[in-house]
Amino acid sequence: MNIKEFKGVYVFVEQREGEIQRVSLELIGKGRELADKIGESVTAIILGYNIKDKADTLIHYGADEVIYIDDKILEVYMTEPYAKALTEVIESRKPEIFLIGATAIGRDLAPRVSARIHTGLTADCTSLDIEEGTGNLLMTRPAFGGNLMATIVCPDHRPQMSTVRPGVMPLFEKDESRVGKVEEFKINFSKEDVNVEILEIVKEKKQKIKIEEANVLVAGGRGIGNPEKFELLKKLADELGGLVAASRAVVDAGWIDREHQVGQTGKTVRPDLYIACGISGAIQHLAGMEESDFIIAINKDPEAPIFEVADIGIVGDINKVIPALIEEIEAV
Ligand code: FAD
Repeated sequence: MNIKEFKGVYVFVEQREGEIQRVSLELIGKGRELADKIGESVTAIILGYNIKDKADTLIHYGADEVIYIDDKILEVYMTEPYAKALTEVIESRKPEIFLIGATAIGRDLAPRVSARIHTGLTADCTSLDIEEGTGNLLMTRPAFGGNLMATIVCPDHRPQMSTVRPGVMPLFEKDESRVGKVEEFKINFSKEDVNVEILEIVKEKKQKIKIEEANVLVAGGRGIGNPEKFELLKKLADELGGLVAASRAVVDAGWIDREHQVGQTGKTVRPDLYIACGISGAIQHLAGMEESDFIIAINKDPEAPIFEVADIGIVGDINKVIPALIEEIEAV
């Protein structure tokens, strides 16, 4: 493999029923930053049916070029046709870096594609950078149960491929004046490319709470004392236009639903403001929130590790601090 032939940063854009998933836009933004460092361009690849009109949005969010593959067979995600399409694009275009969101679809698709093109895959990354000198992609992810962060490189194969957790990378500032190239890529699908039949799609009835998209999160841990205290946290979150999040301890205790969980086995979030209430700051929790722009920690133990990542630390009892905060905000 002559790795010098491989150029550009490529991002797989996931759409569901025509709706572009936010993680894909985050990755275009990150791809933009990486591409600028190595003097190359960003290509977004979108697969689906009647999806050409999505191209402009991808360019506004930082792509230089959009490749779309439009086929009825791609209307709903199926592993085989999607893996075949991405493999053909990669074999033909030879990208240097290839990024996929670590969603249910991305986690299914990425390993199959990487095996077909004989390159490595670093799954579930929480940070990406370019190594000075070599120009290799530094792919960082939690390892050994989240007790350390491992940085992985793929020096001898291309593309350097990684799946990235939703909510970790900041969005590129949308610019509607950006223009770029849009190109259709044709694939000849055959009956053999479809080895499953979708009989029915059952949508989850429950309204999904997307804490990874909130600007403000008020997160509760075991220190809040009991599940009813989440009402108090919700009140503060409502005052600030945010949502309630949680540590795993309280999710495991059944105090709140799993979709609120932040951390290594929960969601990765990067809000403008993260208020940690009665959370000790275990490494597995920090892995999901330490990139937040501003962190306020409230904990009665001055030695709690959460204070090491906090911008403001309040040593106190949440039963006193939170009502006081709400009162102050209401008085403004
Ligand atoms: P605790 O560690 O019990 O902390 C409670 C804190 O509240 C203490 O610091 C205490 O001083 C404070 N406190 C008590 N009373 C008050 C009060 N009245 N006012 C103010 N402060 C008070 N954890 C996650 O959160 N997310 C994950 O995704 C995750 N994944 C994991 C994956 C693995 C493989 C493993 C092994 C663990 C994982 N954990 C995860 C668990 C993690 O190690 C911790 O056990 C968990 O984060 C602790 O939750 P906590 O901070 O709510 O509780």
